[in-house]
Amino acid sequence: MTSWQKLRDEAAQCTRCDLYRRATQTVFGEGRTGVSIALVGEQPGDQEDKQGHPFVGPAGRILDRALVEAGIDRDDVYVTNAVKHFKWTERGKRRIHQRPNGSEIRACGFWLEAELGTVRPRLVVLLGAVAGEAMFGSRYRVGEHKGKAEQASLGSWRGLVVGTIHPSAVLRGPDSEGRDRAYAGLVADLAMAREAAAEEGDR
Ligand code: SF4
Repeated sequence: MTSWQKLRDEAAQCTRCDLYRRATQTVFGEGRTGVSIALVGEQPGDQEDKQGHPFVGPAGRILDRALVEAGIDRDDVYVTNAVKHFKWTERGKRRIHQRPNGSEIRACGFWLEAELGTVRPRLVVLLGAVAGEAMFGSRYRVGEHKGKAEQASLGSWRGLVVGTIHPSAVLRGPDSEGRDRAYAGLVADLAMAREAAAEEGDR
């Protein structure tokens, strides 16, 4: 068993915060170790919670499309979330996403740190504010880091990070123009991340 598989199996039993109580399962990251880019989202959504895989719901479909347009092969990236259990509130028959709080993000940072230390990507794309908070702390603001490549570290991992929006922000755009603009920004940031990872690899 590889150290990554061991981590995933341990995370499946995690009780470091209360989120495991109401979620179906731990949704750990997926992808090969040694890839050049890791994508870090917020937390699993309703579909991810049921299926046990990251980014398989509506936001995942936006991400898949954006990766293709940015020239990134999804099979060649590691995809994970800052928080590994689905946090939700009930509205009628629906489970509505709730943002994880600071202590939940810090508790689950244990797994993100371990994942990045094991997968060792050259570059991490932070998809949204929760991923940014997991890397930089609660003062992180997407607008200040969006589209920039910066050196960062988390635990034993050191490398480049690029901030961008979470793909679900595209779905929440006020109108089609706003959604198109948000999507174009996401694609541009991912394309920039691909170039920065390639340059880093050439050094
Ligand atoms: S959200 Fe993270 S820290 Fe909390 S129980 Fe789940 S895996 Fe553990």
